[in-house]
Amino acid sequence: MSTFKERLSAIEERIDVACVRSGRKRKEVRLMAVSKVHPASAILEAVDAGINLFGENRVQEFERKHAELAAAGVGVAIGEAKPGIEVHLIGHLQSNKTAKAAEFFSGVDTIDSLRVAERLNDSAKKLGHRLPVLVEIKLSEEEAKSGFQPGSAELDEFFEKAPHLYSLRVRGLMTVPPLDEDLEAARQCFRQLRQLRESYAKRFSGLSFDELSMGMSGDFEIAIEEGSTLVRIGTALFGQRVKQA
Ligand SMILES: *Cc1c(COP(=O)(O)O)cnc(C)c1O
Repeated sequence: MSTFKERLSAIEERIDVACVRSGRKRKEVRLMAVSKVHPASAILEAVDAGINLFGENRVQEFERKHAELAAAGVGVAIGEAKPGIEVHLIGHLQSNKTAKAAEFFSGVDTIDSLRVAERLNDSAKKLGHRLPVLVEIKLSEEEAKSGFQPGSAELDEFFEKAPHLYSLRVRGLMTVPPLDEDLEAARQCFRQLRQLRESYAKRFSGLSFDELSMGMSGDFEIAIEEGSTLVRIGTALFGQRVKQA
């Protein structure tokens, strides 16, 4: 059994190599540790090892861990205020959970409808937070995947209205490639996200599209080659997840 620190340094090394291979600077790529399903103690161990950015996929699950972290003296940076670790929601946000999402997360990386964005904006506004958000794009045929359809009228409408959602701050795009496909399919998917970013950034010049969140344990090096600015790594850092109930 390897320790968290050993797994982290192996990942760091692979990120370095991928950056060199693609002519990118290491500081252009942020590492997000995906701690979903793992206990708060795993987050504390990662914080100890120097990680300050986490991804969680369920609001309620993180609400519990948030309390445990607070009890251990680790604060979570909310919106752009308060210092602490950053924890982002990377799972689908249901519109009835926006109040809690705005209360507990530093950012929401899975905006997938105008409706949920408007509700999250209202929730953040009530709390006086300004939440950084990413827009999730669906580049997979799978029913289970969420996200805006690329090129859709709904996505255009979202970007048109986003500047008026003052309590959210659009920072870029994220995607999850199709499950169980080969790495070449993942690469195509990442490339497509980068191209979408370029075209939307031109059309909606008032918004920021700096962040491209793509790449997970099985494909992060390819994502870095294709321009990822944020890789979301769970299994390769924390080990296999036991299936959620
Ligand atoms: C679980 C999850 C990850 C991490 O996946 P691993 O393959 O364990 O690295 C990344 N992104 C999202 C959206 C996830 O739900």
